[in-house]
Amino acid sequence: MRKKTLNDLAARAGDLIVVRVDFNVPVRNGRVADDTRIERTLPTLRRLTATGARLVLLSHLGRPGGRPHPEASLRPVAARLGELLGEHVRFSPETTGPEAVARARTLAPGEILVAENTRFLAGETRNHPELAAAFAALGTHFVNDAFGTVHRAHASTAGLALAMRARGGDAVAGLLLEREIRFLGDALEDPGRPFVAVLGGAKVSDKIAVIEKMLARADRLLVGGAMANTFFRALGLETGRSLVDEEGVDLAARLMDGAGDRMMLPVDCVVASRIAPDAATREAPRAEVGADDRIGDIGGASRRMFGDELQQARTIVWNGPMGVCEMPPFAGGTVAVARSAAAATATGAVSIAGGGDSAAAVRAAGLADDFSHVSTGGGASLAFLAGKPLPGLEALSDA
Ligand code: ADP
Ligand code: MG
Repeated sequence: MRKKTLNDLAARAGDLIVVRVDFNVPVRNGRVADDTRIERTLPTLRRLTATGARLVLLSHLGRPGGRPHPEASLRPVAARLGELLGEHVRFSPETTGPEAVARARTLAPGEILVAENTRFLAGETRNHPELAAAFAALGTHFVNDAFGTVHRAHASTAGLALAMRARGGDAVAGLLLEREIRFLGDALEDPGRPFVAVLGGAKVSDKIAVIEKMLARADRLLVGGAMANTFFRALGLETGRSLVDEEGVDLAARLMDGAGDRMMLPVDCVVASRIAPDAATREAPRAEVGADDRIGDIGGASRRMFGDELQQARTIVWNGPMGVCEMPPFAGGTVAVARSAAAATATGAVSIAGGGDSAAAVRAAGLADDFSHVSTGGGASLAFLAGKPLPGLEALSDA
């Protein structure tokens, strides 16, 4: 890790620390419907409050578009955080400015204040320097624990880190961010081999950079999901009425040429006349997909073939489901790959699942604890795997 972490934080008891968390959770009828993201921040928060620090928490929630929006208030999130911590958590309806600063200053050592949604402010997503400076004025040091936002340069992420450093404070990575960077970074820089990458999901063009990066580093690239359909088309196979990324077909052909036998495509598919939760399905070799068929998942032979590769892997990086995993008739391939990766992990492989939908599928299958790491950030993990810049991380203090 080339950036400062909690271990390097030059804070003293009573210091006011600004912590950027990812509390972008679903809220329904004023209640938090899924508190996974809140729970994930507890180690960092507990570690800081145990030293007597006073914390001001910043987060975005939803896309209120730079204006206050009652439904996107963090107030219910502050309440839920308090329940999880078993302590009262305070809330500031102002995100910045004199009132917010005054509230922060009245905190007792170990107390936490959640400030209102950063995206209620117009400068947030534009990374306005004045807003970044106003965030930095809330404390003396900055901890970023919001991995899901590091691929964006916003005022409360990259801007705040730079503004805090300009004031002479530290800007460091929290435990969650540190863990994400360690797992994803090690997998890319120094993977145990064989290194097997599994890519799926909907579109090829969205994930070109990831495919290229994985082709350069991995020993095997297993392709599933609708992404495979685009490769099938490039092979001249019938894909019927399946989802194909038309713009990506030429590119898929070029990628396949360069990859040789390191890239493996499914050999069979689960097909149906419609993609629906109650669809009647059948399995077909990939050369026998009909003109009216829709491909919804990888077939049994492909699951065994991918499973064999995963069983031998020492490093597994997985992004994107193998099929329409949110519908039971088409979820089997994704679950099979998740099980194979989990089994390989049990015998010593390092396994990382990233991507919003794939991570959700791993959790839904009850296999999250059987992976070495399930990434919390969909877009951020994709950007990391693609080797794109991560402004929220770059802006932190160098170790
Ligand atoms: P992630 O969020 O893990 O990065 P993506 O967002 O790229 O994954 O892709 C997930 C979506 O791809 C899911 O909504 C899933 O239904 C869809 N998908 C996967 N395979 C197919 C397929 N064969 N046909 C249609 N949609 C598919
Ligand atoms: Mg997705």
